[in-house]
Amino acid sequence: LPGVDEVRVVVTAERVARQLVAVASGKGGVGKSTLAANLAIALAKAGRRVGLVDADIYGPSQPRLMQVEGTRPTANDKVLDPVPTPYGVPLLSMGQLVDPGRALAWRGPMAAGALGQLVEADWGATDTLVLDLPPGTGDVQLTMVQKYKAAGAVIVSTPQDLALIDATRAIDLFDKAGVPIIGLVENMAGYVCPHCGESSDPFGNGGAEAAAARLNIPFLGRIPLTIAIRTASDAGEPPAAGNGADAAAFHAIAARVDA
Ligand code: ADP
Repeated sequence: LPGVDEVRVVVTAERVARQLVAVASGKGGVGKSTLAANLAIALAKAGRRVGLVDADIYGPSQPRLMQVEGTRPTANDKVLDPVPTPYGVPLLSMGQLVDPGRALAWRGPMAAGALGQLVEADWGATDTLVLDLPPGTGDVQLTMVQKYKAAGAVIVSTPQDLALIDATRAIDLFDKAGVPIIGLVENMAGYVCPHCGESSDPFGNGGAEAAAARLNIPFLGRIPLTIAIRTASDAGEPPAAGNGADAAAFHAIAARVDA
């Protein structure tokens, strides 16, 4: 029989082997959490064993998106057990651990400490962890990506110039931290009026694809701005879990992330 220490070493090695895919954005409100939830679900549907870590201390929205609002994780010998969700993607969120109002004042090292509890939880056979990072490029994000070397980062932006400039800063942060950029996603691109059918571009169109080409990083795809995405998200039913019109866009992005 192996000694206790040997068992610990094996467990640690297994944890390190898990792939961490960070989802980031230059600023809030561009759909980073929406993409993280749908990417996790789409990867799970494609056969990966996926867990979701909500590290957005400023606005942890994954419990609501994944329909487990109010459920707190249990712990076994101080190691957290991820909360099962209806979508086959277990979840741990900062919002399940602390009052977000208090977390707002956290410095990078404190946030990294809390993130450690989420990442080093009992993820079992999970092979991929999708990490919903806080928006922006502050020391919180830097501490997180440096401590838990992500396998790669997916950057989300709207097509708007200002959002893209912020996204460029986020890309820079990952570059400096040595985290490869998996690619850029354009969200809220193109709105089709449900009444007249005419298409318009509230935040412009194609800006992210052009920016990706300029920055020499892969462009992963475009998610339209739709009422269905907003209402389904609010109801805790991420579109990628269903077969609606918007599911395909998320599945296409997941296939490129998986490639
Ligand atoms: P972030 O994580 O970047 O702050 P969220 O994912 O929380 O952004 O999205 C902000 C709001 O915009 C949410 O109400 C969400 O439902 C909505 N939203 C995100 N993407 C879309 C989209 N493509 N179409 C419609 N609403 C969207």
